[in-house]
Amino acid sequence: RREILAAERGLPVRTVDGRPVALRANVATVVEAKAAVAAFADGVGLLRTELPFLDARGWPTQAQHTAVLAPILGKLAGQPVTVRTLDFADDKFPPLLAEHAVDGRLGRGLPHMLADPRAFTDQFRAILAAGAAVDVRIMIPMVATAEELAACAKILEAAAGELGVAAPPLGAMIELPEAVDAADELAAHAAFFSIGSNDLTSQILHLDRRDPAVSPALAAHPRVLAAVDRTVQAAHRHGRQVSVCGDAGAHPLVIPLLIGLGVDVLSVAPAALDETRVRIRRLDAGVCAEAAAEALTCDTVESVHRIVRQRCWPAM
Ligand code: PEP
Ligand code: MG
Repeated sequence: RREILAAERGLPVRTVDGRPVALRANVATVVEAKAAVAAFADGVGLLRTELPFLDARGWPTQAQHTAVLAPILGKLAGQPVTVRTLDFADDKFPPLLAEHAVDGRLGRGLPHMLADPRAFTDQFRAILAAGAAVDVRIMIPMVATAEELAACAKILEAAAGELGVAAPPLGAMIELPEAVDAADELAAHAAFFSIGSNDLTSQILHLDRRDPAVSPALAAHPRVLAAVDRTVQAAHRHGRQVSVCGDAGAHPLVIPLLIGLGVDVLSVAPAALDETRVRIRRLDAGVCAEAAAEALTCDTVESVHRIVRQRCWPAM
């Protein structure tokens, strides 16, 4: 079965009615970057950078960031690579931020990084230097307001100016309800959006993402779909692309809905690339749009799953 899926590597990733979908990989290690290249990913849609620093007692230095980034980017020469800045949130809690925890919960790392701009400057310098050999883009996780994104852009532009290079495109992750509410304002300032469906789903449905019962299939919930819809509409009004980089982007009951809502890019785990490509190539974007429109009127996630099975995967 694995070989059957791999047989479509190298074929265009588009629906049967011709809608292209960029299929990218989520990586955090050299091994994953190699797997992404082997499976013909269109570059990397999410490079997670915080994982080596979960035991950090101070903000990582430029040299420490470079040591993590350079080997991974070295495997991805010439490809689009979206590097995400440090995402220290509830489930990724380094000692360096422990003093800010309330009841064992950290909340978001972004305000702490903006309060100590060296935290960003060192990472931006490392990304700008190590990213020179790839088509680099940068995205900020857990953005809540357009002001936060503007503050990040200012630090990035200063870092790029010092190095005498142009600042790469800066995008915002949409994974908080506040960001969905601010999507129009954010889209005016962001180069692109990437929806973090893992956090967005648990935030909207008030679930704990660490709970094993929380499946990526829950991103098909009508309230989550409504948030995706608003995000895509806002981005497209401003001519920006939208990616989905949470695990829902590889789930058969969610992929058709994301395509139906107009998502431009799916970024998935390397192990999910082959199957996701095959799925996209079996779908009709027009049918997906009808299914998504009907899903938005549903009350429960079960009724949405039923619609997707009936309309989009009738043979299964
Ligand atoms: C997400 O929240 O969906 C996401 C892609 O980021 P992470 O899982 O690293 O929080
Ligand atoms: Mg997230």
